[in-house]
Amino acid sequence: MKKEIILTGERPTGRLHIGHYAGALARRVEMQNSGKYETFVIIADDQALTDNADDPQKVHDSVLQVAIDNLAVGIDPAKSTMFIQSQIPELKELTFYYMNLVTLARLQRNPTVKTEIANNREKFGASVPTGFLVYPISQAADITAFDATIVPVGEDQMPVIEQTHEIVHKFNSLYGETLVMPRGIVNENEKARRMPGTDGGAKMGKSIGNVINLGDSADTIAAQVKTMFTDPLHLRVEDPGHTENNPVFHYLSVFAKPEHFAAFLPEYADYAELAAHYERGGLGDVKVKKFLNDVLQEILRPIRERREAIARDPGAVMEILRSGTIAARERAAATTDRVKKAMGLVYF
Ligand code: ATP
Ligand code: MG
Repeated sequence: MKKEIILTGERPTGRLHIGHYAGALARRVEMQNSGKYETFVIIADDQALTDNADDPQKVHDSVLQVAIDNLAVGIDPAKSTMFIQSQIPELKELTFYYMNLVTLARLQRNPTVKTEIANNREKFGASVPTGFLVYPISQAADITAFDATIVPVGEDQMPVIEQTHEIVHKFNSLYGETLVMPRGIVNENEKARRMPGTDGGAKMGKSIGNVINLGDSADTIAAQVKTMFTDPLHLRVEDPGHTENNPVFHYLSVFAKPEHFAAFLPEYADYAELAAHYERGGLGDVKVKKFLNDVLQEILRPIRERREAIARDPGAVMEILRSGTIAARERAAATTDRVKKAMGLVYF
């Protein structure tokens, strides 16, 4: 039976953080190891440039860091193909053809793009680069180039997948069945789909800076937890607290397993008990934050250690990316041939 094909990845705009880990990376590694899928991991540098044209060095340097992050959490080049988007010109060809299938009004209506434009107002000023507005189309190119059937994403990216559906539908109805229709999947754990920032903002984002990175030192993690936003109405220990819109509790609900409670906070069996006490009153933020720090340190320590070991040999990482990119390009070129044939763009 033909394996399902996964296309997933990140923009190299900085280091990956615990939002990526919870929302995407942990599951990516599980799916890779299940042996049921063929996995492509894209490092989307061209897409990163759409809102970072002024800082190509950051994008360039982040490619290696994002690759190391993926390897550190368990992406295995023997099982998954990790590649650099900009090195596959066919992806740009596909983008160009797909642009004719999407109206300007539709792009401007895309909720993901609208939110990102609002978040980037300082950078963009009054007007938005065309490339940024068009990035959902380039994402459709990335997805369809590999005939991906499954695209695991965070919740913020779902509207972009919808845009891909429309492009595939339009292309196939105009030029005949050519492109494979993908489906976007979000994490089963609803809370992992959109991890809030340490500042209490709606989304932890590397371009926003409200993050705990996978490679952060033990001291940095502790400092981030200490200054993290909690419930501003929870002034005294005895006051009832709110766990909603409280990133400390949000992170605990995603990361704290019964074994963490047994090891670090045995007075509570699980998250539900801890949250109930906080809401009742009588549980202080200092104690909860200390527990969150213990949990995060436990989860991130092995990742950081693997990260440090991998980072000692950047040449080996670049070699993984080079051979992944060669393999990925072959696939994208085959799809592009198919697309051009379907459109009648064969002359010689
Ligand atoms: P940027 O701020 O530069 O856009 P980012 O932190 O949003 O960076 P991306 O590389 O854009 O990271 O996203 C990679 C993947 O991780 C996407 O599928 C996205 O939905 C998911 N993701 C990003 N941030 C979070 C988050 N806070 N919680 C859950 N998933 C997330
Ligand atoms: Mg993003």
